[in-house]
Amino acid sequence: MALVTENIFESFFRNSVEGILIFDKTGKIADINPAAKELFGIGKNAINPENVNDLIGSKYHAELWIICNRLLEHTEKKGKGNTLVIHNEGSREKNLILGLHLNNHIKLNENRYIAAFVTDETSRWKEKYELRQSHERFRKIFKHNPVAQLIIRESDNLIIDANNKFLELFGYELDEVMGKDTISIGLDHCNECKVKIEQAPDEHHIENDCESEAHIKSGKVINLLQSYVLIKLHDVTHEIWSLVDITEQKAAEAELKKTNEELEKKVTERTKDLVNLLEREKRMNELKSRFVATASHEFRTPLTTILASAGLVETYAKRMDAEKCLKHIDRIKASVELLTEILEDFLSLDKIEQGNVKPNITSFNLEDFAANVLREAESTLKKGQSIEYALTGDLIIKQDHNILKNTMLNLLSNAIKYSGEDANISWAISVQIDKTIITVADNGIGIPFDDQPYIFSRFFRARNAETIQGTGLGLNIVKKYIELLHGKISFVSAENAGTSFILDLPAIS
Ligand code: ADP
Repeated sequence: MALVTENIFESFFRNSVEGILIFDKTGKIADINPAAKELFGIGKNAINPENVNDLIGSKYHAELWIICNRLLEHTEKKGKGNTLVIHNEGSREKNLILGLHLNNHIKLNENRYIAAFVTDETSRWKEKYELRQSHERFRKIFKHNPVAQLIIRESDNLIIDANNKFLELFGYELDEVMGKDTISIGLDHCNECKVKIEQAPDEHHIENDCESEAHIKSGKVINLLQSYVLIKLHDVTHEIWSLVDITEQKAAEAELKKTNEELEKKVTERTKDLVNLLEREKRMNELKSRFVATASHEFRTPLTTILASAGLVETYAKRMDAEKCLKHIDRIKASVELLTEILEDFLSLDKIEQGNVKPNITSFNLEDFAANVLREAESTLKKGQSIEYALTGDLIIKQDHNILKNTMLNLLSNAIKYSGEDANISWAISVQIDKTIITVADNGIGIPFDDQPYIFSRFFRARNAETIQGTGLGLNIVKKYIELLHGKISFVSAENAGTSFILDLPAIS
């Protein structure tokens, strides 16, 4: 019976597909079956190795003997099993990974032996290793992704993982955000994406790259570009949020926009300046050519008069006719005065245009002022003409004396010039608390209705004034003077019925 048992055991030992190795407490191999030899890479006919230590790499010795000694110290036959996984580098198959299952010891002839079952763990171990490797690989990719990422459980919006870039960007430690609702750390989907996510299938990339603002831990607001991927992890839908910090880009965009706007503003200003300059240049050129045209026309009459009168003076001087001589000398004087006036108008206009006329405000007595103006104006009155003058209110006024005098002389000389003989001209000054109203009215030729809009334009002359001497500069100068005093000038006129000019000058404190 024992023989039968021994034979059965021998057969089992030799034919087992599982490797079996028996060694004593010194490691000396008592027996090794063919399967074990095969696994350890020992040829079928090769002599058996002497010691278990020779079969496995030295780096496993310590661990092997910790297990073995524990098993050997056990009094009971069956010890608590242990498996030692070894990389069988010494074998012919270098990459074989073997499991040494050291489960019990055997007592034979008072000696204790360790029985080790040897199995090929290569494929199982590789599978496990690869799974772990791939898990680690993906974890590393997620953790070290240069784009900030969060993994959110879709059902309750809780953060289940955040990568390093996210933590760095938002200034949190991982445990500060784990299990938190995104909204509690100042992050949310945009409305459009929320709808898209709700409608999206289980595993899906939400195309929208939406811009949003988020508060980071320090309270600072940053600009983000958000996109989402829906994935299923253990059958639960999760969202992977990718967040790109575009704060600097936004600031640069804003800066660029500002610079562009400033540039555009500058270009507009420069263009305006240029247009103004061109306009001014154009006006100056126009003024010059009009001056030449007007001068050649307006100068001709007085110059002809001067020439004719000078000739006559010569004739009458020879005849010793003093009376006629004086008459023509007066004509020469009047013509020279006219030429001077015309020249002065041109010069005044040029001075105003250049901005060289600045009001010089003084207090003066209106009675004296009016007497002065009247004296000058009356010297040009036509036959039978008179000026009726009325002053109401304060006698002392604060104004630019010269500007006011030139303005009055201009308006009065027009009233005289454009009225017939015997006409009555009225001049009224009313000094009020906040303003002074001055009116010059005549009942002369009036201004045709169609010409009235252009009456203050430079060189403009109404068509009913063409035969009367003039340059069309006087009213243009007057208007500019009044504007310098912050006043207003208006008129009421009807052809053949007369004209009234009204000045409204604000009081100067
Ligand atoms: P000028 O008298 O040298 O022509 P002004 O600029 O003083 O130039 O006047 C412009 C035009 O306005 C005159 O040519 C004339 O047609 C018209 N005008 C000015 N004042 C009167 C007025 N009191 N009555 C009628 N027309 C006037």
